[in-house]
Amino acid sequence: MIKFLDLQKINLKHQDEIEAQLLEVFRSGWYLLGEKTQTFENNLASYIGVSHAIGVANGLDALRLILRAYIELGVMNAGDEIIVPSNTYIASILAISDNGLVPILVEPEINTYNIDISKIEEKITLKTKAVLIVHLQGRIVFSDELKQIAEKHHLKIIEDNAQAIGAEWNGIKSGNLGDAAGFSFYPGKNLGALGDAGAVTTNDETLAKTIRALANYGSNQKYINIYKGLNSRLDEIQAAVLDVKLKYIDHENKIRREIAKRFINEIKNPYIILPESPENEGEHVWHVFVIRSERRDELQAHLTENGIQTLIHYPVPPHQQDAYKEWNLLSFPVSEKIHKEVLSVPISPVMNKEEINMIINCLNQF
Ligand SMILES: *Cc1c(COP(=O)(O)O)cnc(C)c1O
Repeated sequence: MIKFLDLQKINLKHQDEIEAQLLEVFRSGWYLLGEKTQTFENNLASYIGVSHAIGVANGLDALRLILRAYIELGVMNAGDEIIVPSNTYIASILAISDNGLVPILVEPEINTYNIDISKIEEKITLKTKAVLIVHLQGRIVFSDELKQIAEKHHLKIIEDNAQAIGAEWNGIKSGNLGDAAGFSFYPGKNLGALGDAGAVTTNDETLAKTIRALANYGSNQKYINIYKGLNSRLDEIQAAVLDVKLKYIDHENKIRREIAKRFINEIKNPYIILPESPENEGEHVWHVFVIRSERRDELQAHLTENGIQTLIHYPVPPHQQDAYKEWNLLSFPVSEKIHKEVLSVPISPVMNKEEINMIINCLNQF
């Protein structure tokens, strides 16, 4: 069977280096807020091109902490509105509502699955404080138009970069396009830990300092608490593992791009809509390869019968979830269509030629 994502194989590629790091942390007797975390933060910051990276416990916390810090700094207040795509993974939206802020959903573009920038301005009110963009599936969503809208209305641009580490726009990496960015290193992400992990990147020193304190019980100095903070730290083991894998992220993203290119060139089936190639190769890191079909469920069954595991990202849009009952009667037709038709086929840096050929053939046979 071709697994959707073979994490064992992905991590075994770096077995020697990772095991050496695990042993070193184990033997050091120092497990939190230590050298490994500091080193990874520095390397992540320089890779992204920002002045600050703060390791946190997971991607949801990274986004929650950015918003919480803006509240502590008086930039935002409970009840303020944050624009977010209507088809994102629910974590982007949870980070907003968890802070007493109001998510304002904006439809995506059907061709890129990313927020439709031309529909943002009509949703801006006097309460709007930020746009939370999500580089969904690994594809950058950014433009000069977005920057102008943000400047004109004094909005922060926050990136949910959970799916797009290594992608770049005009030579600038995602994570350095807006005011602050949240990363997830969930094991299945392009840069995956051996458990939960996340980070925030920013060039704003005050924001960075506030987030660092908030993530550590609201304290910059032991037993002195300036905020009602939380405990959301990256641990030394995860940091050490991530620091090994960070060195290979460009290479692994390149392999993903090569596979995506083959899929786009060689899958030819009138029942299947392929993802659009990005304008510049660097704008996409293919966290997932998402195809669309009006016969999605049949297509998924056909792939399963042929030993190819697929997933649906995502089956239920946020506005139709029980968690957001207040939105259940709203209609977001583009999002709804996407959720009904998308199917993610395997793509990863450890797939071999035979597996890629099998996926292409199987999709062409349908
Ligand atoms: C994975 C993900 C998150 C959440 O990250 P966790 O580390 O799982 O908390 C947030 N946003 C998007 C778009 C994601 O894909």
